[in-house]
Amino acid sequence: MRSGPLRVDPPESGPTVRSPVLVSRSVAERLLLLAVRRMPHETGGLLFGSEETASAGRIGDFVELRNIEPATNHYRADPCEVRDGVFRPEGGRGPVIGMFHTHTRGAATPSALDSRTATAGYIHVIAAVEVRYPRIRAFRRDVPNGPLTELQLGLGSQSGGPGCPGGASTSR
Ligand SMILES: [Zn+2]
Repeated sequence: MRSGPLRVDPPESGPTVRSPVLVSRSVAERLLLLAVRRMPHETGGLLFGSEETASAGRIGDFVELRNIEPATNHYRADPCEVRDGVFRPEGGRGPVIGMFHTHTRGAATPSALDSRTATAGYIHVIAAVEVRYPRIRAFRRDVPNGPLTELQLGLGSQSGGPGCPGGASTSR
């Protein structure tokens, strides 16, 4: 990772700012470290936590899912692992509230593919590392084919929970 402090900047588009998504500093840091470890390939996975309102939530943990098409410019999760993660989450993480993936080349901005494939009702986090400073941004669309809008992302003070075996292990 290039040098520089972890930054979770406010959304760049004013009109779409809504209730914040909170992510603990430890989770944010582990996401960025995972992104660096998987370089030059992108990776991704599921976000766990609590959804406190229709458009706000708290990301408490994450788990990495296998990238079935390892590439430097896109991430595609194993659909079986997605299904298992959503319907049979392992102990204590809470429900799946979203997905994340990393960008190893370019900003934490949704690509055209990201915009097309983002599932409505979930938080979509992008962690970018190969930029001037590491950055995490969150997006969401409320209805299928609706606009993908940026969510305000805040660093919560709580700890990241009991670690993330899936996020720390290598699955390929
Ligand atoms: Zn992307």
